[in-house]
Amino acid sequence: MNRDKVLVVFSGGQDSTTCLYWAKRHFKEVWALTFIYGQKHVAEVACAERIALQAGVHWDKMDISFVGSLARNSLTDTTMKMDEMQPAAGGPPNTFVPGRNLFFISIAAVYARERSISHLVTGVSETDYSGYPDCRDAFIKSLNVSLNLSMDEQFVLHTPLMWLDKCETWALADQLGVFDLVRRETMTCYNAIQGDGCGHCPSCKLRREGMERYLKEKAEGKEFKDLIYG
Ligand code: ZN
Repeated sequence: MNRDKVLVVFSGGQDSTTCLYWAKRHFKEVWALTFIYGQKHVAEVACAERIALQAGVHWDKMDISFVGSLARNSLTDTTMKMDEMQPAAGGPPNTFVPGRNLFFISIAAVYARERSISHLVTGVSETDYSGYPDCRDAFIKSLNVSLNLSMDEQFVLHTPLMWLDKCETWALADQLGVFDLVRRETMTCYNAIQGDGCGHCPSCKLRREGMERYLKEKAEGKEFKDLIYG
């Protein structure tokens, strides 16, 4: 396995784009893999390709649309109204796609192994995780062990955003010199509007509140710790 190479699970959103540039600082050769999982908005894929090409990394896409059809969720089902907040009854909102990160990261690991890549990066975060169980650190650590056992390899799953909130994720993008790129070029919005997005979907709300807090704290002179190497 080559320690100079890394594969980023890449959606073209704020988090994975920040991770892509984080990976460029830590590894010589960066690969980005974008999944088509049945999401309503395939514009995300074109957005991911554009960002990856601009970043000068190897880019590839893979169609695993079956993932979105295994279980009903509002990111792949056009007839379903999207939950705008956590359900009062508990459990994750209907934007949760069961198995998504399990499939993404497992497939990415097999793809990486074929290219002698042992390092993988995913932009999941436990801090602002919207109630998605597959964004939690325990899941990632457990999957890392399972992937190693399943293929007798020594994969290393990196999660640079795991303990950062959205404000700190913006701070990291700024430290990487890509704050404006992330703000303008990425697509995080559940309604597929690039940049600042629709403004009212849960993803836009989280992103905007984080950015506003970051810009306010920066204007007040707050020093953020080194989030790239720290
Ligand atoms: Zn939105």
